Amino acid sequence: MTHWRSRTSLTPFALLLATAVLLAPACGTRPKPPSPSAGIDLAGMDKSVPPGDDFNAYTNGGWIKATPIPADKAEYGIFTILADETRKRLLGLIEESAKAGPAAGEDSRKIGDYYSTFMDEAAIESKGIAPLKPQLDAIAAIADRHALSRAIGGRLRADVDALNNTSFETENLFGVWVTQGLTDPSESFPYLLQGGLGLPDRDYYLSATPHMADLRFQYQAHIAAMLKLAGFGDPSGSASRVFNLEMKMARVHATRVESEDVHTPVSWKRADLPARAPGLDWPALLDAAGLGDAPILIIWHPKAIPGLSALAAAEPLDAWKDWLAFHAIEQAAPFLPKAFVDERFRFYGKALSGTPEMRPRWQRGMDATSAALGDPVGKLYAERYFPAATKAKVEAMVADLIRAFGTMIDALTWMSPETKVRAKQKLATLKVGVGYPGHWQDYSGLQIVKGDALGNAQRADLFDYHRQLAKLHQPVDRGEWWMTPQTVNAVNLPLQNALNFPAAIIQPPYFDADADAAHNFGAMGAIIGHEISHSFDDQGSQFDAQGRLANWWTKADFDHFKAAGEALAAEFDAYHPFPDLAVNGHQTLSENIADVAGLLAAHEAYRLSLGGQPDVARDGFSGDQRFFISFGQSWRSKSREEQLRRQIATDGHAPEEYRADTVRNLDIWYDAFPVRAGQKLYLAPPARVRVW
Ligand SMILES: [Zn+2]
Repeated sequence: MTHWRSRTSLTPFALLLATAVLLAPACGTRPKPPSPSAGIDLAGMDKSVPPGDDFNAYTNGGWIKATPIPADKAEYGIFTILADETRKRLLGLIEESAKAGPAAGEDSRKIGDYYSTFMDEAAIESKGIAPLKPQLDAIAAIADRHALSRAIGGRLRADVDALNNTSFETENLFGVWVTQGLTDPSESFPYLLQGGLGLPDRDYYLSATPHMADLRFQYQAHIAAMLKLAGFGDPSGSASRVFNLEMKMARVHATRVESEDVHTPVSWKRADLPARAPGLDWPALLDAAGLGDAPILIIWHPKAIPGLSALAAAEPLDAWKDWLAFHAIEQAAPFLPKAFVDERFRFYGKALSGTPEMRPRWQRGMDATSAALGDPVGKLYAERYFPAATKAKVEAMVADLIRAFGTMIDALTWMSPETKVRAKQKLATLKVGVGYPGHWQDYSGLQIVKGDALGNAQRADLFDYHRQLAKLHQPVDRGEWWMTPQTVNAVNLPLQNALNFPAAIIQPPYFDADADAAHNFGAMGAIIGHEISHSFDDQGSQFDAQGRLANWWTKADFDHFKAAGEALAAEFDAYHPFPDLAVNGHQTLSENIADVAGLLAAHEAYRLSLGGQPDVARDGFSGDQRFFISFGQSWRSKSREEQLRRQIATDGHAPEEYRADTVRNLDIWYDAFPVRAGQKLYLAPPARVRVW
C-alpha cells in the first residue's frame, strides 16, 4: 500500500478556467513571478471558513465552488489537471516525432504507429469483430477441463502489483506479479493473486445496499449487451451464467483489507498445486502461462485460489466458456468498433463512476500508447520536460527529507535504541529514483503493426508479461522502476527498499522552481515524506533494510507503534462522506500513517532549510501557514458520488479532503493558524496521532 495516490483517475483534459493559476503552463510561456513566489492560489481559498473547522474548505473552498467537474471526468483536481497537461505534452511530442519520419523499428516509429492505428476509427470500424474472432472461436472449441485450464493460463498477464502499486483487480482468473520473494530478496518469484471479477471488488457482488444491488442488475445487462454485439445467440442466458459464476468467485475472494495482510501469502511448490488447490489442471494452466518451469509460486490469496480452482471443476463448462468469451470481448473493447466502446463506457464510465461523457478519443489513444510503450514514451517526455536542474533540486529535497526523518527517529522518546538503529539502517539504504529509471527497457522485441489496433495492444501486453517472466531467470534489479516517468504519482517499493518519483509529478504546483521553500516543502516535500514514510507504515515497517519481510522491532516498540496506528484508524473510521458510508480506517491505514509522518518530516526539512532564521511573510501568511496551505491545496479535488463510493470500497487511499485534514495531528498546525478547542478539526494534544 505504498503509492502516493489512487491510480483510478485516468481522466482527461478539459477547460481549466478557474484553475489556471495552479496549472503548469507549457515550457517558456510562464510569466516570471517575483522570485520566489509563495506558490499558493489565493483565489482558490475560502477564508470565510475557519481553518480549524474545515481545512480542506479553507484552502480549496473557492476553487470547489467555482469549478464544475467536467462532463467527461469522474473526479477533477490538481492530479487530473496535471495528468491532462502531461497527455497534451505527449501528444505534441508524438506528432513532432512522426513528422521527422522515423525508420521502421525505431521506438518513435512504434509510438507513432501505435497511436495513429488507434486513432484510425474508420479502419477499426470496417474490420468489425474480425480481429477478435480467432480468439472467440478458440474459446468456443474448448471441449474439456484440460483445454479450459490451458485457455485460462494463456490469458494470464503481469497485471497486478500487491505491494508497490497495490493493484489487486484483474478480470483474468489470476493476476501475476513477478518480483523479489517476501522473505528472500535475492531472488525473483512469480506471485499468484485472486481475480476473475468484472466488478471492482467482492463487495459489489455481496453487499446488500440498494446502490450495489442496482449496479449488479446493470452489470448483468452490460454482459448481455457485449455478448449480443459479438453475435452470441442467447446473450441473456450467457450473461446470467457469467454473472452467477462471478458471484461464486466473489464468495471465495478475500476482502480488500485481507489482501493487504503481508503475512497471509504462502510459498507453494509448483508440483503441490494440484493437491493444494484441486479443480484446475494446473500443469496445463501453468504451462500455457509460461510458468511451467517455476519451482515455487507465492500464493498471495491461499484461500481464494483453491476456492477459484474448485469452481473450475464444480461449475458447468459452458458457464466457463461464456465467462472467458465475455472477458475476452471486454478486454478487447477499447480496440473494437464504436458500439463496443460505447457499451463499455455506458457501464464502467456512467453507471460505475458517474461520468456523463466519454473522454475524447485522442486522450484514450494517448493513454493506451503510454501503457503499451511505457519506457519509450517516458524517455521522450523526460528528455523534453524534465531538466537536469530540476532533477538535482528534487534529489537535494529528498536528501533533506531523509535527514529530517532521521532526526525524527532520534527524537522519539518511546522507541528503544535497538529499534532506532535498525530504522536508521533502513533509511540509510533507501534507494531513491527521481524523474526516470537508471536504464531504459529495450522494446526492440515488440512488434507494432500499422492497422492492427487490437493486435498491437495484445502484443504489447504479452511483451510486458514476457519481460516480467524473464526476471525469474535474471539477477534481481533493485533499481527496477514500477511507474513510468509520465505518471503523475509516486511510489515506495518495499521489497527493493526504494522509491520512484516520476518526472510528471515534479511540476507546479507540486514542485515549483520559482516558489519558496514553504511551498515546495508543503507540497512536493510532503509527497517525498509520504513515500519515505511508507517504509515505516504498518506494512512497510515489517520489511527490513534489505527488503526482507522480517521483524526488526522489539516487542514493546512494535506494540506502541500498533497502538498509534489503531488511533489513526479510529480517526478515519469517523469520517462519513455519506450517511450510509464511512471511510475504512484499516483499509487506508498505511496511507494515513504515511501522510501524517510524511507531513511532519516535510515540516522538519522545511525548518532545517531555514537554518535557524524565521521565514518572511508572503501574501499575508507566515511561512508555517504557507507550508500548510500548500499542503492542503495539493489535495485539491472533487469527485462524483459514484466515484467516491468506488474509491472508498476499493482504494487504500482515503478521499482527498480527509487527507488534507491530516494537519490536525500536528502540533505546529495548531500554533500556525491558530486552532482552538471546540473547532471541528480540533484534537486535544493526547488525541493527536504521532506515529513517527
Ligand atoms: Zn502512499
